[in-house]
Amino acid sequence: MENSSFRPSHWENTTFLRSPDVVVIGAGLTGLQAALALKKNNPKCDVLVIERSPIPRGASTRNAGFACFGGPTELLADLDAYGAESTVATVRERYAGIQALEANYAGRDIDWQKHGGYEVIDDEATAEMVRERLPELNGLLAEVTGLAETWAYESTPYLHGSTRACLRNPIEAQLHPGKLVSTLLKDCHQAGVRFLFGCEVDYFASQLPEAVGAGAGSVKVEGAGWGSIVAKQALVTVNAFARKLLPADFSETIRPVRNQILLSDPLPGFKLRGCYHYHEGYVYFRNVGEDRLLIGGARHQAGQSSETDAFGPNGVPEAYLIDKLNQWLPERNWTNEDFPTRWSGIIAQGDGKSPVLRYASENVLVAGRLAGMGVALSAALARRAVEMLGASTKI
Ligand SMILES: Cc1cc2nc3c(=O)[nH]c(=O)nc-3n(C[C@H](O)[C@H](O)[C@H](O)COP(=O)(O)OP(=O)(O)OC[C@H]3O[C@@H](n4cnc5c(N)ncnc54)[C@H](O)[C@@H]3O)c2cc1C
Repeated sequence: MENSSFRPSHWENTTFLRSPDVVVIGAGLTGLQAALALKKNNPKCDVLVIERSPIPRGASTRNAGFACFGGPTELLADLDAYGAESTVATVRERYAGIQALEANYAGRDIDWQKHGGYEVIDDEATAEMVRERLPELNGLLAEVTGLAETWAYESTPYLHGSTRACLRNPIEAQLHPGKLVSTLLKDCHQAGVRFLFGCEVDYFASQLPEAVGAGAGSVKVEGAGWGSIVAKQALVTVNAFARKLLPADFSETIRPVRNQILLSDPLPGFKLRGCYHYHEGYVYFRNVGEDRLLIGGARHQAGQSSETDAFGPNGVPEAYLIDKLNQWLPERNWTNEDFPTRWSGIIAQGDGKSPVLRYASENVLVAGRLAGMGVALSAALARRAVEMLGASTKI
């Protein structure tokens, strides 16, 4: 699949487009942390990150900024669907990710605030189910968090109205996703990682020694309008946007699902603090700074229209989110006008809660599908991807 309309110059081929050891496709949290770790492990390893947008524009700069491991209704649903072993293993990775973020980035300019996480329950049947099963859940979480009661009932002065129960954990924190990605970019530049922004990868081909002239085990990645690169290995971290790029026989489901986010203007007297989960994580809200409210999600209300990797608004979940606020925080009459800032982001869902990490071909490793918890999960996924690349004899 040669792109004959565009021919890079010799000067470009020997600088910007020169062959790296590893090409990372996608500059989100997973790609950036992996690129940085590759360089830190081996400063001689030439690492190039290729990103389709002028700035990283996947989920990593468009999420809600929860450093979280999951609320009781979501974790209990996971227990039923995937069993205790898988659920605890996933929570362990998320928890390790929160600890890694706190150790490495909380002291830097990422607006880290550890107000804890909350779960809001507003119907009696769910409240009853959680009351019955909380000891079971806390028992399993204790081996990860070391806390006898990771989630405990705690009334909050902020929520009123029809709220039936509120639980809190002291572990979860919030951050500014744009500042985190920007800090990682700075660290990558400092470590010597190279970047190409605005270069969408359309296609890759591995093990084409005659075609690329770079020896067995090489991989060629290519895109319209910018040319192509030959690397020893490729790491694909495009998350929800993987389907277009991966071979048709790549068996894991990677399903893009659009989420909506609403952010208020500053609200006089606004006091709510913390990361709030509702209904298996489908809805989430938090304070942003001192006096703004962010609320997002509700993809379960959007039906088929949320099954897309295209950014865009959706009035149905947006109206649902505002209705919910009027239920939970009724002393204020919430309207559309309270949320002049809105955006969407694309989550990668699959058949289970674990990310995908496997070679799509001999020298193309895929690391992605982080669902709604990639802020915490991406550190562990990136580390495991780098271990796999490092174990290869080619770098
Ligand atoms: C609205 C929303 C709210 C969320 N809230 C939270 C939260 O509060 N806490 C939490 O833990 N997680 C949350 N998540 C999930 C979290 O953001 C993701 O799991 C995580 O950011 C995934 O990181 P990533 O690097 O794997 O993928 P991404 O951040 O999606 O990065 C993929 C990158 O690849 C690029 N790319 C795509 N295709 C190509 C191509 N063909 N060529 C080159 N580049 C390409 C994209 O532009 C993008 O920059 C949320 C997600 C969304 C959408």
